[in-house]
Amino acid sequence: MNIVLLLTDNCNLRCTYCYYKGIQKRINGNEENIKTAIGYFYKYAKEMNQSLLNITFFGGEPLLFFNLLKTGVEYADSLAGPDFKIAYAINTNATLFTKEIFDYLEAHNFLFYVSLDGMKQTQDEQRPLHNGAGSYDLIKPWIPRLAAANTMVEKVITPENVSRLHDDIEFIVNQGFRSIITSPDFSGNWTRETFEILEREYEKLIAYYIKKQRRGKGLYLNVVEDKIKAFLAKKSFKETCCNLGQNIFAVTPGGIIFPCTRFAVNDPDSPYIIGTLEKGVDPKKLLMMSHYHAKDKPQCEDCTIKDRCLGNSCGCISYSTTGDIDGISPFVCEHERMLTRLADELAEEIFS
Ligand code: SF4
Ligand code: SF4
Ligand code: SF4
Repeated sequence: MNIVLLLTDNCNLRCTYCYYKGIQKRINGNEENIKTAIGYFYKYAKEMNQSLLNITFFGGEPLLFFNLLKTGVEYADSLAGPDFKIAYAINTNATLFTKEIFDYLEAHNFLFYVSLDGMKQTQDEQRPLHNGAGSYDLIKPWIPRLAAANTMVEKVITPENVSRLHDDIEFIVNQGFRSIITSPDFSGNWTRETFEILEREYEKLIAYYIKKQRRGKGLYLNVVEDKIKAFLAKKSFKETCCNLGQNIFAVTPGGIIFPCTRFAVNDPDSPYIIGTLEKGVDPKKLLMMSHYHAKDKPQCEDCTIKDRCLGNSCGCISYSTTGDIDGISPFVCEHERMLTRLADELAEEIFS
């Protein structure tokens, strides 16, 4: 079972594309909620005959509340045993590390998911601190340790910096990172011109990826590989990657339970709430969510790439771009068509 624990809605950065930007009331977590959430989902996983609980600490920026994270880890460790494992991950902007924090996370075998948008110029423009200063210099000292720890880098592509996409990825790889997830800022002001630049940058990225693979340098780039892998496996993204309504839960700092990460906002009126820490998960609401897997989105039913398209597969992307779990943003649809075509051209070249 996978749980995402949001320790806080607050953050020390002000990224240009942050989906928390419009949120007025921000909440911080507390020890009671963290322990209740871990205890609740530990029991839940056991009732489902599962023997592993993956806990991802998320925010806002979770390292603003490192002591809360420690409370969660210590409590979770007290529940683990030979028949039940607990594994940890953190999604962080990497600007608040200290030696003590890094040592602690490494000692507890944390998986690191770090947001890094590329070279100093890109990072500073897209991910400034709350006072407007750039954030790159705060991350830089930690890059060697993060790279050695097999960190997954998450990079957001914006229309403003799309022309540097290939260069930014090359920079990240040159720092020693080998796993990179990129995703466009789907809510950005994309135009025909910037979309075409994005396509050309993806083509450059694919050429770079092939060059690296031919030299035997292991590299994972989600934009290049995922659609080819799904095609070869003859399985849909929903089957292979999506746990929504089944095996993933996100808990807000205030104790509201949602079906996946992007839904988790501090809004007691959200139609996507599936429970609270006080009352637990509502089985009827969970069942409604699990139906998500049984059908395609209405607009996608006849589409030939629906099994490999994030627009049809990812409820979080639909919700964050349209406010509706079944909504499809025109940009997402066009982006997925373009990327699938490029991936298929690459696959043809590889296998011919
Ligand atoms: S680090 Fe994350 S939470 Fe913080 S401002 Fe950037 S996108 Fe938002
Ligand atoms: S809704 Fe999206 S982010 Fe959530 S589990 Fe499914 S694919 Fe992953
Ligand atoms: S490309 Fe568009 S229509 Fe096709 S599956 Fe994706 S979102 Fe649906």
